[in-house]
Amino acid sequence: MDESRQRIDEVDREIVRLLAERMEAVRKIGGFKNSNAEAPFRDLERERQIFERWSKEAESLGLSSYFAGRVLREVLNYSRRYQEGLIDSPAPGAVGQVIKVGYQGVPSSYSDLTISKVFAHRGDPSIDRVGFHTFTAAVEALEAREVDYALLPVENTIAGSLNEVYQLLLERPITVVGEEVWPVEHRLAGLPGARLDGVRKIRSHPVALQQCEKFIESVGGAVTESFFDTAAAAESVSIDADPKIAAICSEESVLRNGLEILHRDVADHEANFTRFLLLSMKPEPVDLRKPAKTSLTLTVNHRRGALAACLQHFARQDINLTKLESRPRPEAPWEYLFYLDIEGNIDDPKVKATLDEVRGFTNHFKVIGCYLRCTEESEPVPSVVVEQPPESLMEDEEPVVFAPPDQPEHAEVSLGKATFGGNRFTVIAGPCAVENRQQIFAAAELVKQRGASVLRGGAFKPRSSPHSFQGLGFPGLDLLAEASRTFEIPFVTEVLRLEDVDRIADKADALQVGARNMQNFELLKKLGRTNRTVILKRGMSATISEVLSAAEYILDGGNQRIILCERGIRTFETSTRATLDVSAVPVLKSRTHLPVIVDPSHAAGQRYLVIPLALAAAAVGADGIIVEVHPDPDAALCDKEQALTAKDFEDLMRQLGPIVLGQGRALE
Ligand code: PEP
Ligand code: MN
Repeated sequence: MDESRQRIDEVDREIVRLLAERMEAVRKIGGFKNSNAEAPFRDLERERQIFERWSKEAESLGLSSYFAGRVLREVLNYSRRYQEGLIDSPAPGAVGQVIKVGYQGVPSSYSDLTISKVFAHRGDPSIDRVGFHTFTAAVEALEAREVDYALLPVENTIAGSLNEVYQLLLERPITVVGEEVWPVEHRLAGLPGARLDGVRKIRSHPVALQQCEKFIESVGGAVTESFFDTAAAAESVSIDADPKIAAICSEESVLRNGLEILHRDVADHEANFTRFLLLSMKPEPVDLRKPAKTSLTLTVNHRRGALAACLQHFARQDINLTKLESRPRPEAPWEYLFYLDIEGNIDDPKVKATLDEVRGFTNHFKVIGCYLRCTEESEPVPSVVVEQPPESLMEDEEPVVFAPPDQPEHAEVSLGKATFGGNRFTVIAGPCAVENRQQIFAAAELVKQRGASVLRGGAFKPRSSPHSFQGLGFPGLDLLAEASRTFEIPFVTEVLRLEDVDRIADKADALQVGARNMQNFELLKKLGRTNRTVILKRGMSATISEVLSAAEYILDGGNQRIILCERGIRTFETSTRATLDVSAVPVLKSRTHLPVIVDPSHAAGQRYLVIPLALAAAAVGADGIIVEVHPDPDAALCDKEQALTAKDFEDLMRQLGPIVLGQGRALE
C-alpha cells in the first residue's frame, strides 16, 4: 500500500505541474485575445473538439469518459475565466491593498468558501473577510464603507430565492458587480465515533434543513434545530460534544471542527447550487467583449398587456431572459414586483435602447447591476438546427403597437385613483397651504364638487422669507389625509427635507418637489427609492435638459412614477410673477415618455392671469394642471393674490371643457 501511495503522490505532483504548464499556454493565448479586439473569447468548436479527444483517450485507457469530462470542464471553465480576467480586470486591488469582504455567517460557511472562488477569479489575492450575523448587517457595513464588498446568496436551485436579499437590493443604494455559483455538497457531521442511528438532533441553517428533508425523515426520530449558519451549526456540535447531535454542513466545516462525516449524500437532489451576488457601492463596468448579465427590478403599470409588451421587447432584440420571478408587494395588494436577469451588457447600445423602451411600461424600474456572467452554459454539444416557428405564430393575437424609436412612448402615471397621461386632462386643485381644519375641508369639498381629480395643499412651505407662514408641518399632513379620506380625493403635498420623505410618503398619494428643490439631488435620490408618485416642478432658472436630468435621478433609483410640471421661469419680465414657458410642454413631451402638467398659478402670480394660462396649457397639449384655489382668498395665509375662488374655479373647468374635448381628450 505504501508503494501505491507513493506513486499517487508522485502522479499528483505531476498533475499539478502539468496544470501549471497548461495555464501558461492559456495565459499566452489570453494575451493574444486581449490585444486583438476582434478575437472571440470563446471558441465553442474548439472546446467541443477537446472534449471529444479527452473522451476518446480516456475510454481507450479504460477510464470513464464521464469522469474525464468532469475534470476537463473544471479545467476549461477556470481557463476561460482566467482569460476573461486578463481584460482590464474590473477593480483589482492595488498591490498590497487588502480588500474587505463582508458575508453572512462564520468561517467555512458556504458564503465564506465562495468568497475564495470569487476573488481567485478576480485576481485579488489579499482578502480580509468579515462575517456578519444577518444579511442586513453585511449590507449596512457596506453602506458605511466598513467593507469594500459584500457577498450574499440570492437563490438556490432547490430552495428558491432569498427574499430578504432581494429586498435589500431593492431598498438600498447598492449595486451588483459580480455573481458566483457554488455547488453545495452537504454532509452530515457528528463527533468522531458517533453513529448515524444514534443521532437525535440535526442542526443547520433552515435552507439546508429544507434541502435535506427526505434524508432527515429517514433518520428516524431526529428533530431539527435551526442555526443562523451551517458552519456555526458544525461548531456547536463540536462544542456540545454530544454524540446524539449532528450538523448538516460543508466538508470544510467538518474538517475545521474536527468532526466526522456520518453520511455523505444528504441532499434531496444531487444537483444543488447556490448563486451568490457580489455587491458594491459603485458599479464596475464590464468590458463589452466579456459575457455579461444585467439584473433589474420592475413593476408594470396597469395598461393591459404591459408585462407581455416588456417581455416582447427583450425577445425582439434577441436578448435572453435568464430569470423572471414575481414577488408580492405588501404595500400594494395584487401588484407584483418582477426580478429579471437578462444576458447582456448595460453599456451595449442595443441593451440600453431596449431597457429604455421597457421603462415606458413600468411604474418602478431599476437596474440593480451589470456584471460578468458566470452561470455556466451547458457543455458544448454538436449543434442542432432549431426550427423557428412561423412568424405569424410568434406574434400575439393583438399586436402591441410601439412608437417609432425617435418618438417616446408616453407613459400613464397613476396618482391615487387619478391617472395622468394618455387621452386625458387631469386637474389638481387646492390651496397653496393647509391653514386649519375648516379651511382644508372647505377647499377639498369645493374642488372635488367642481371636478378636480386631485387635491393639493402644502403642509411644509418653502417660503422666500423666513418671516412668512411656513406651513403646519405634520399636523397639516394629518389634516390633508383626513380631508382626502372624507371627500374621497387623492392628494399631493410638497416635501422639503430628505428626512421627511418616508413619513410623508406613508400618508400622501404623491409628493411634490418644489421649484426650489429641483436640483436637491439627495432628495431626488431618496424619492427614487420610494414607490409614491412624484410631481417634479421645474426650477425657476432650470433648462429643459436640467429638468430631465433631475427626473433621471428619480428614475435611476427605480421610481418611474414621475409627473413633470412647468411652473414659469425667471426672465427679464416683471409684470408676471414668472414667465410661463408654454413651449416647454411640447418640447418635454417630445423628449420624454413622462406626463407633463402646468402650474399656471405660480407662473401668473395674479388671479386674472390664471385662467388664460391654464387654457393655454390645455391648448398646447399638457396632460393636466395644478392650480391654487382657496375658499376665501382674502384670508389666505399664502399666495392670496393668485388663489382662485370657487366661482373662478368653476369658470375655469367650464372653459377647459371645449378645448380638451376638441382634442379628443377627456377632462378628468
Ligand atoms: C407650490 O406649488 O406650493 C410651490 C411652492 O410652487 P413652486 O415650487 O413652483 O414655487
Ligand atoms: Mn403657492
